[in-house]
Amino acid sequence: MSSTESHTFNDPTADITFASCDGVLFKMHKKHLEITTGGFPSFDKLVVDSDPVPLPESAAVLDVLFRFIRPPLDSERNCQPDLSDLDHLLFFSVAEAAEKYMVYGAMNTSMIHMLHTTESNPLEILNHAAKHGYSKLSNKAAALSLSQTDLLLAQKLTHPGVLNRFLIYRAQWTSVKASALQQISVFIASGHQNCAQIQDLRARYLEQTNARPQSGAEIPNPDDSLTCGRNRNRVNGNQTGCQLPLTFLNMLKAQAQALKAFSEVTN
Ligand SMILES: [Zn+2]
Repeated sequence: MSSTESHTFNDPTADITFASCDGVLFKMHKKHLEITTGGFPSFDKLVVDSDPVPLPESAAVLDVLFRFIRPPLDSERNCQPDLSDLDHLLFFSVAEAAEKYMVYGAMNTSMIHMLHTTESNPLEILNHAAKHGYSKLSNKAAALSLSQTDLLLAQKLTHPGVLNRFLIYRAQWTSVKASALQQISVFIASGHQNCAQIQDLRARYLEQTNARPQSGAEIPNPDDSLTCGRNRNRVNGNQTGCQLPLTFLNMLKAQAQALKAFSEVTN
């Protein structure tokens, strides 16, 4: 493949040249690589001759990544790249390359950007975070992935072991929801057959957990305006509201404490 030179990484005083997989040459300074990265192959091995060092990443990826390595230019307002401007495929390729070559600034900036955008790509972010050991990020992404389809899980959770761990993590939530609904049935059968509060609570718990499975350990606020059939039967007619929503909430709180975060789940 014929090579072209990068327009932004063409300093003639540079002492090492990298070639992207699509044939663009990037001239860099070894001293910058030594200070800002930890994962490039040993430079002594890289400079046995002056041939460019081939890298499997594309020029688009290296162009962003290398801006985290050499000091920012005046024309870049002395800023490192804003990763929120990248389309998401390029962003994840840069994030992966940042981990591979340990480009410290890019690793950190990618992780922070993923924390801020977890809802838009929870599965890609879960896969990346679990692969590279970012616990806080993987926990956030896993909670937001509970409603994803099995097909998408299989397609996106590609790092070995991540799908397995996620299925174990998800099973906890499925079982919390099932036991919550079971408990409500028991409540209703225990003299609250005509209780509008507990019926309403069941309907809204289902609605809430269908929309956001990660909310299965919270209960919607009880609607106190609804009557509890059992209270109405009291001789003194005292309408203090049904006590079952509070009992239910306490039960769910106890279950939630037993749930493991994704990062605590082992295969
Ligand atoms: Zn009731």
